[in-house]
Amino acid sequence: MSRRKGSKQLILDFFLSNLGKVVESREIQLASGGAVEWARRVRELRNEEGYQILSHKDRADLKPNHYLLETDKRLPAFKRNISKETRAWVLERNGYTCQMCGAAAGDADPFVPNRTVRLTMGHILDKSKGGDDSPNNLRAVCMSCNEGLANIGFPKPDRIHLLAQVRRATIDDQKALLEWLLKKFHTKITDKNLLSG
Ligand SMILES: [Zn+2]
Repeated sequence: MSRRKGSKQLILDFFLSNLGKVVESREIQLASGGAVEWARRVRELRNEEGYQILSHKDRADLKPNHYLLETDKRLPAFKRNISKETRAWVLERNGYTCQMCGAAAGDADPFVPNRTVRLTMGHILDKSKGGDDSPNNLRAVCMSCNEGLANIGFPKPDRIHLLAQVRRATIDDQKALLEWLLKKFHTKITDKNLLSG
């Protein structure tokens, strides 16, 4: 028999050609070439490859034999195979700040209105170039940078220019910065702290 597409690829092709459309389990099985384990392949597409295939467990308006793939966008890597512990460690190390644009988790997203900054795991050496999922090859990157919305990776500011910028900032902005720094370094602002020294 000549080599043909595996059932998982056939199922993926089927979902991708029906983006945004509810499909039924028998259609998926048919598209898979009649694979007995089609449901398992669907799970693999979700859990290992990050395709956001929705079922009745995700959306109340879907029936038990209904599936829906709304987007061909796959979930960022951390949701798939980077452990929670690794992710937490990398976020902590990077100060919950995007290492490309400097946005902090929870800030207003500078690139997408009405969205707050969410951080994901980015690879320092891309996987296509042999990079792996080890903590040393990971860094916090915001969704916008991850999606390539912010094309410019700003160079890290050097200390002299950074301090100059801070000195030129308004008192309110300086206070906001101080607050952020104290929070980052786990110190609480009290009047006493602010007044002493
Ligand atoms: Zn960013």
